[in-house]
Amino acid sequence: MSLARRLLIRASRSPWLAEQFRRRAFARRAVRRFLPGEDLGAALDAAAAFAKSGIGAVLTQLGEQVRSAADAEAVRDHYLMVLDGIRARKLAAQLSIKLTHLGLEADAAWCRRAVDELAAKAKAAGSFLWIDMEESSYVDATLDIYRGARGAGAEVGVCLQAYLRRTPKDLERLLPLRPAIRLVKGAYSEPSHVAFPKKADVDLAYFALAERLLAEARASRVTPVFGTHDERLIERIRARAAELKAARGIYEFHLLYGIRADAQRRLAAAGEKVRVLISYGTAWFAWYMRRLAERPANIWFVLRNLI
Ligand SMILES: Cc1cc2nc3c(=O)[nH]c(=O)nc-3n(C[C@H](O)[C@H](O)[C@H](O)COP(=O)(O)OP(=O)(O)OC[C@H]3O[C@@H](n4cnc5c(N)ncnc54)[C@H](O)[C@@H]3O)c2cc1C
Repeated sequence: MSLARRLLIRASRSPWLAEQFRRRAFARRAVRRFLPGEDLGAALDAAAAFAKSGIGAVLTQLGEQVRSAADAEAVRDHYLMVLDGIRARKLAAQLSIKLTHLGLEADAAWCRRAVDELAAKAKAAGSFLWIDMEESSYVDATLDIYRGARGAGAEVGVCLQAYLRRTPKDLERLLPLRPAIRLVKGAYSEPSHVAFPKKADVDLAYFALAERLLAEARASRVTPVFGTHDERLIERIRARAAELKAARGIYEFHLLYGIRADAQRRLAAAGEKVRVLISYGTAWFAWYMRRLAERPANIWFVLRNLI
């Protein structure tokens, strides 16, 4: 992992920097590249616009590491209200949540019940609930909550990170649950005994996991989602799906709002199922630092806004 990437991810945990950034107009301008607006209305409007081009949406309110029960309850209530909005506007939109935003650290048992509640309401609203994956220290707790919810029949999916050395085993343990899995490369800074430090190894691990997911999807044992903007990888996955005769629609591609919009449209036009993950909210600092870390060249974009 490059030094720039490590520094940016470390900076993402600084409350002081977060405050400085939030107050600066140039930073708010730069961040707009990756989010349609800070309020839910902007995210719902963006989802409606994507729907016109045959692209679905996944909505997420930015925030993480919530430590008070009252704040966690507010997050749950917000998402319950979002599901009402999705239903009222008849949007093909799903939700993605971070468990530390939903109070995992304040009260894990409460967080588990909140996941069940959100998954049930998502189903009733014709939507679907995804659980993001955060730093490796949260993987056990996240998979535990996922297993509990899915084991009880909830329709919920979870993100797995290809950069983690443990992920192939985690995937095998999840398969009996017929899970929905969103496979990503991984966005945090992890020690090398936990995650592959070299991008080439992460890409190899991703493709191996993708092949496994496609093979299982053909037997209806998993619903795979490939969360990546890596076009070479996307084309390899599409080619492998064709070889395996995995019908389009049994897997999906998800990309982030503001990144590779050309690829989003191209994939949708080629008949692939595509969704864009749309983030909104004011707590964008840590998340934005991770977007900069993924492509440190993005820092020039910030500087251009400063000038
Ligand atoms: C739908 C979705 C959900 C995700 N959920 C999680 C999660 O729950 N947990 C988690 O750890 N990570 C998550 N991520 C982030 C993921 O782990 C990667 O950090 C991120 O997707 C960058 O990797 P990549 O697969 O796009 O490949 P890369 O090889 O990093 O990038 C491929 C190409 O995509 C473009 N690109 C990638 N990132 C950027 C960027 N920030 N700005 C501009 N261009 C860019 C560039 O053209 C780059 O060459 C998610 C990503 C997606 C798409």
